[in-house]
Amino acid sequence: MGLSPVWRLRARQEEPEQKSNSIALMDWTQLKAKVAGCTDCKLCSGRTQTVFGVGDEKAQWMLVGEAPGSEEDRLGEPFVGQAGRLLDNMLAALSMERGRNVYIANVLKCRPPGNRNPEPDEVAACSPHLLRQIELIRPKLILAMGRFAAQTLLGTDATIASLRGRVHQYAGVPLIVTYHPAYLLRNLPDKAKSWADLVFAKKTIP
Ligand code: URA
Repeated sequence: MGLSPVWRLRARQEEPEQKSNSIALMDWTQLKAKVAGCTDCKLCSGRTQTVFGVGDEKAQWMLVGEAPGSEEDRLGEPFVGQAGRLLDNMLAALSMERGRNVYIANVLKCRPPGNRNPEPDEVAACSPHLLRQIELIRPKLILAMGRFAAQTLLGTDATIASLRGRVHQYAGVPLIVTYHPAYLLRNLPDKAKSWADLVFAKKTIP
C-alpha cells in the first residue's frame, strides 16, 4: 500500500565549504577543468565561456581584475577589450607584457550580465578559484586592480583611495592596490595616480 519507507540514494552534493576545500587541493589541470565546467553560481547560465586567466604560470607579478566583460566572454581571455588595451600599454611602459612574467586573472570567471558589479554570492562562490591560482603561481607581487579585487583579497570594505600607496599582504605575498583600468577610461585624471601605483609596484618587486 506504499506505507513502507521509501529509501532513495540522494545525489552527493558538496557543501560550499567542502567545495572550496577541494578547490584548494587542485593542480592546474584539475582547476582549469573545474572552472570550465563550473555551475557554482547563477552566472554560468549567461556565459559564452569561462575566462580562467592568462599568462606565465610561474610569473612574479600577478594582476587581478574584477570579472570578464563582453569581449572577454567572447574570446575567453581576461582584459582583451578597451580596458585591457590600456592595461597592456601601461605594462609596456614598464617594459613588461602579458604572458612574460605576468599572469592576469579576475575574481569572477564568468561575465555578469550587462557588466554589472559582482554580487556577494558570486564572489563567495568563485573566489576560491582565484585563491588557488595565487597559491599555484606563488607570485612575488599581486596587483589588485579595482575595488572587487582589493576588497576580496584583503577582506575589507575600504576604498581604493584609502588602500593605495602602501604594501599590503595576501597570504604572505606583497599586494599593491590600484584603480581598475575600466575606471581609468572614465576618469582620465586618475591615470597619473595609477601610473604612480605601477611605478611603486615596480620599485617594490622589480
Ligand atoms: N575588466 C575586468 O575586470 N576583467 C577583465 O577581464 C576585463 C575587464
